[in-house]
Amino acid sequence: MPLINVEGLVLKTYDLGEKDRILVLLTKQHGKIRVVAKGARRPGGRFAALEPLVEVQAAIYTGKNLHTLNQAVLVTSHRQVREKLDLLAYGLFMAELLDLFTIDAEVQLANYQLLSQALYRLEQDDPVTLLAYFQTQLLLQMGLLPAWEACTCCQVSDKPLVTLNAAIGGLVCSACTQKVGGMPVERETVLLLQYYAQVGWEGYGQVEAYPYVRQLTKVLEQFIFYHLAARPRSYDFLSAMRR
Ligand SMILES: [Zn+2]
Repeated sequence: MPLINVEGLVLKTYDLGEKDRILVLLTKQHGKIRVVAKGARRPGGRFAALEPLVEVQAAIYTGKNLHTLNQAVLVTSHRQVREKLDLLAYGLFMAELLDLFTIDAEVQLANYQLLSQALYRLEQDDPVTLLAYFQTQLLLQMGLLPAWEACTCCQVSDKPLVTLNAAIGGLVCSACTQKVGGMPVERETVLLLQYYAQVGWEGYGQVEAYPYVRQLTKVLEQFIFYHLAARPRSYDFLSAMRR
């Protein structure tokens, strides 16, 4: 079997039998792959530290569908995030969103960098603001940002847009909202969304995002869940931690 070297971020893990574990790795070089980590379930085992959100440099034997981990060196364990339950909830939620939006073996370096950066910043930044920025950038990369130039329903551009309609894919004016419905959004929330879509990590913390950031996160979540046609499993944990 050929041996490849990758840099990867553990999105999640599954138990495999009594001793082994399957890692879902988001890699820089080969996109999302599934790798068997032999003996990872044994305490003190060679791969026991490879938990979700950990970043590794790994050597992997490639197989047809499943690959086998040969060697792994920790790049960062994001320990500060993993040791605080509330931060862990945010980290796992972001990792699951990436997992759900990513197809196996499709290389998307921007996605990797987005999650890796988010986890580093989660150690010191405000998690609510960070999540809103992360969600905006993720939708941008997926080409799924809500349309905001004009009413997505009637296409008129000079009317105030008051709701977001996930099924139609963007913002909607009040007259159309009467017909098709939508989630209410303040003008400032839309401005914040537009700002987050345009700036890099160096700019995201430079605006006073409260109180609109909470509304933005809520609206984007509904929008994302609509596209996924499901609610991520880690969302309940995040909701519990947010209270
Ligand atoms: Zn309209």
